Amino acid sequence: MKAAVYREHSKDPRQVVKIEDIDTPKPKANEVLIKVEAASYNYNDLWGIWGEPIKIPMPHISGSDIAGTVVEVGENVTTNIKVGDRVASHPNLTCRVCYECTSGREYDCISRKVWGFQTGPLWGGFAQYTHLPEVNVVKLPDNVSFTDAAAICMVGMTAWHMLVTRAKIRPGQTVLIMGGGSGMGIAGIQIAKLFNCDVIATAGNKDKMDKCLELGADHAVNHREADWYKKVRDITNRQGVDIIYEHIGKTVFPQEVGLLKMGGTLVSTGATTGYDSAIDLRYLFFRGTNLLGATQGTKAGLEEVIRWVSKGRIKPVIDTILPFGNMVEGHVKMADSQLFGKIVTTPQRL
Ligand SMILES: [Zn+2]
Repeated sequence: MKAAVYREHSKDPRQVVKIEDIDTPKPKANEVLIKVEAASYNYNDLWGIWGEPIKIPMPHISGSDIAGTVVEVGENVTTNIKVGDRVASHPNLTCRVCYECTSGREYDCISRKVWGFQTGPLWGGFAQYTHLPEVNVVKLPDNVSFTDAAAICMVGMTAWHMLVTRAKIRPGQTVLIMGGGSGMGIAGIQIAKLFNCDVIATAGNKDKMDKCLELGADHAVNHREADWYKKVRDITNRQGVDIIYEHIGKTVFPQEVGLLKMGGTLVSTGATTGYDSAIDLRYLFFRGTNLLGATQGTKAGLEEVIRWVSKGRIKPVIDTILPFGNMVEGHVKMADSQLFGKIVTTPQRL
């Protein structure tokens, strides 16, 4: 089979990511073999290629977001998943037996690994075939395309986990979605609107702000302007917001904390602009602020997202679909913040 393999690290993906012919994997016990029809890109793919901030198994196949068809099942796979099923990946590999896993918090499992990033050698989604534990695939309704599924899995599951599981979003709340033009932001806006919330989205330019409004955001603010947080406060009639959906980090974090209502909740899943932030701790104790962290999510959360995609209420947004032979351009394009939506490649089409 063909796979996008790299055998050394580089800041320039074009230098190291090559389409190679390698052996098609066999499913282990409890695993299924999937013919990959669509695979989407995430920032962890770039971290893998760069070789930082953490070491990863080499040689490496990246890709944590795929959809395709089950073509073989290993021993001990239950009757739930069969050959011919259309499925998408749930990229959290966890032990499923520890206290955290069995209490429904698989995302807190101490042995959790992100498939396609921390796994290998040669075990990820940018390949014509891949294998996954049965518990790490979700079935796709017929009306959800492979490209849409690949585009929504990771960001949809993470956004669902942040807003629903962690921040416990309720109808009618005011929700500030930071970075609304990113893959994470697009999913966050749509989930907050599912709950009929008032959504203020931020973006880095006018074009992305307009697209956030088209997706359903009620207001859009440019977070690159120095007084962005004053604009948010004015939109709320100086009341502040109930929930902040955060993944930008240092450049906005201190101002965000001051935008929360009494008892409000900030949920963070990343820090693209830097992690060594400072806040005025008086906001934390005096205002009863909830500062929450979130990483990825649960398989159940992913199934909820896929159900809403099937109903047409969450619409995956795809920026570009690349033939597999040209897939490395996706890595290059991802570093470009002018994207709106996900990049997807199609391993069966070179
Ligand atoms: Zn566990």
